[in-house]
Amino acid sequence: ELHNVVMDLRGNIRVFCRVRPPLEDEADRLLCGWNYLDEATLEIHNLEMLASGAKNKGASHEFSFDHVFHPKSTQEDVFEMVSPLIQSAMDGYNVCIFAYGQTGSGKTYTMDGVPDNVGVIPRTVDLLFESVRNYKRLGWEYEIRATFLEIYNEVLYDLLSNEQKNMEIRMAKNKTDIYVSNITEETVSTANRLRQLMQIAKMNRATAATVGNDRSSRSHAVTRIELIGRHEQKNEISIGTINLVDLAGSESPKTSIRMNETKNINRSLSELTNVILALLQKQDHIPYRNSKLTHLLMPSLGGNSKTLMFINVSPFQDCFVESVKSLRFAASVN
Ligand code: ADP
Ligand code: MG
Repeated sequence: ELHNVVMDLRGNIRVFCRVRPPLEDEADRLLCGWNYLDEATLEIHNLEMLASGAKNKGASHEFSFDHVFHPKSTQEDVFEMVSPLIQSAMDGYNVCIFAYGQTGSGKTYTMDGVPDNVGVIPRTVDLLFESVRNYKRLGWEYEIRATFLEIYNEVLYDLLSNEQKNMEIRMAKNKTDIYVSNITEETVSTANRLRQLMQIAKMNRATAATVGNDRSSRSHAVTRIELIGRHEQKNEISIGTINLVDLAGSESPKTSIRMNETKNINRSLSELTNVILALLQKQDHIPYRNSKLTHLLMPSLGGNSKTLMFINVSPFQDCFVESVKSLRFAASVN
């Protein structure tokens, strides 16, 4: 019962943690100590600090989430916990799913996956078109529209176009919806076409990240799918959105990054936290407009919306400090 009260206060924000496994060629990297206490709680231990013997406050930390995925968890396990949100979007909710974590922690693996083991986004596409077929039997016709964009250094880039365009975030006439001017939006009628668009977006993002500037780890990639359902006989309409966001790496940049850039990247991540905290505290003023990312997602954060944040962490000892930072960040919104 207490649990329910807590859930109520927290509204529609959920936080999942995922610890990735070491890869084959990482076999000689030292791991942290990890204990998975139950399906929602984990402990991280700094083995070097513990081995050094001294009273090491800070060598071990315990964190709780809505769910913890350990290194053996599969893409199926993950999507099983995500799919109810996709259903909600079909029913008219605005949904945001974020992957947060340091570079190399598994954000892109979680969102996109790899060709023979796809992640949340391709699975979402399949589930959507399956749901569209099921809803059709009940008299619902769905229109699916997709846009792909990248936010880098507080500038928006259209991932379906190579043209340099001036894209702005604007408020729609109804004063609640947000749209992006000049962005390429396509109405898709098959899962194949949507997957094709994803590939194009991915290639354009990779092309933009030229050698040396490491742009893709410092930009946010936003996949937006709009779902418009119409039921003619009932004269009903349902409009939902799914925003899938592969966030910029959360690590503090070490060297040689232009100040301006660093500031902007850290800004949008911290503004995202500020917005989520303000929503949780039910503040009157939610500071959506302080960054492009939160401004863009304004209708999908708070109100009639559901938010899921993946905290991705690397299993290694040399990632201990960044991992604890990420896990703490989660604790602040959890
Ligand atoms: P990020 O996007 O956060 O920088 P990646 O998703 O690129 O990190 O992950 C880093 C590497 O680890 C990639 O080679 C990726 O395929 C692999 N990887 C990440 N998570 C997993 C996982 N759960 N299982 C297997 N391999 C993973
Ligand atoms: Mg990535």
